[in-house]
Amino acid sequence: MLPVVAIVGRPNVGKSTLFNRLMGKKLALVDDQPGVTRDRREGDVSLLGLDFRLVDTAGYEDEDENTLPGRMRMQTQAAVDGADVALFMIDARAGITPLDEEIARWLRGNDVPVVVMANKAEGKAADAGVMEAFGLGLGEPIPFSAEHGQGLSDLFQALLPLL
Ligand code: GDP
Ligand code: MG
Repeated sequence: MLPVVAIVGRPNVGKSTLFNRLMGKKLALVDDQPGVTRDRREGDVSLLGLDFRLVDTAGYEDEDENTLPGRMRMQTQAAVDGADVALFMIDARAGITPLDEEIARWLRGNDVPVVVMANKAEGKAADAGVMEAFGLGLGEPIPFSAEHGQGLSDLFQALLPLL
């Protein structure tokens, strides 16, 4: 059985864009609106020869802001259950939000190894957000651009010892 890698993070950080890039097909729905991925999606991926099963997590298009944190925790829990590694994605352009902090707190109390991905890191607008991501207490973030395919070899390097 392939090791399982789950992508977690609040809506609109770029989880499905990463999923699509690694799958090499437009399998997960990407949209400008937060949280348009309705279902958990998964597929087998080979990243520079590293083989694993990748899980993209659902969004909450129907949720209001007050119920989102609890729902995010449930979603993150479901994604991380049975996963060997969690890719915790943040939006380096937006910086760290209270919801990111909430997910980080939950992940710190969990056994699953976490790789922090600072997405949307193409260009200087993301520099501050990448630095902020260090403060999540989950290790060194990988500056990444799911849209432009930047950081794939760093992701490979981070996953190699964990899978
Ligand atoms: P999800 O809700 O976390 O699955 O996020 P999506 O993958 O649906 O992406 C949300 C938005 O962020 C879309 O408009 C994407 O085009 C955009 N996006 C994703 N990755 C990047 C990136 O690396 N750079 C930039 N600038 N935008 C991105
Ligand atoms: Mg999505």
